[in-house]
Amino acid sequence: MKKNIVLFGPQGSGKGTQAQLSSKAFRIPHISTGDIFRQNIKEKTELGQKIEKLINSGKLVPDDITNEIVKERLQKDDCSMGFILDGFPRTLNQAQFLSSFININLALEIFISDEEAIKRIGDRRTCSKCGAVYHLTHLAPREEGVCDKCYGDLIIRDDDKEKSVKKRLETYHKQTEDLINFYYKEGIYKKVDGMQTIADVNNAVGEIIKSLT
Ligand code: AMP
Repeated sequence: MKKNIVLFGPQGSGKGTQAQLSSKAFRIPHISTGDIFRQNIKEKTELGQKIEKLINSGKLVPDDITNEIVKERLQKDDCSMGFILDGFPRTLNQAQFLSSFININLALEIFISDEEAIKRIGDRRTCSKCGAVYHLTHLAPREEGVCDKCYGDLIIRDDDKEKSVKKRLETYHKQTEDLINFYYKEGIYKKVDGMQTIADVNNAVGEIIKSLT
């Protein structure tokens, strides 16, 4: 069976890290709408210029723009055995749109409390040059403030600043409730405890993905 997976989790849940680990282990692409948008902002594309303000203030990009980008991406050859969608769907409209052209086999939530999310995001650092993400406690760079991979400066992303984080958590809860109900009714919703170590969460996620036979 194809491994067409959508991944949920609040900011700081380790969702991105887990998506990358499982992407490697199962050889399916990790597709993050946030990464696609940030790349467009960095490259100052037409799309990037249109969405920069929305992203930096923690607001969602309109569904018509986001849906189109995801549909195009999922039709590429590397998605033929499956994919891990990270950051999409975020609204019921997006989930319905997704189901209209592709079959999703698993909707997986990595769960952590708001308190833990705020604490973890305060420790998050992103490379201003290559976009690599570090955590001061869980995944520290070798040298403080410097990227291990490209030696770029490590910064706190604008949308990782506290005001944006609180807004994003609020939005996350409001919208994920509907999405969880949607996938629960389809019988494909599963939840993993994200308050464990990265390795333990990875094992739990891996077992669930393996069971998609
Ligand atoms: P993320 O890295 O997933 O937290 O995404 C960063 C930002 O990109 C979000 O705060 C939104 O502004 C935008 N974004 C990412 N995915 C979506 C989506 N599915 N729908 C609307 N906006 C999105």
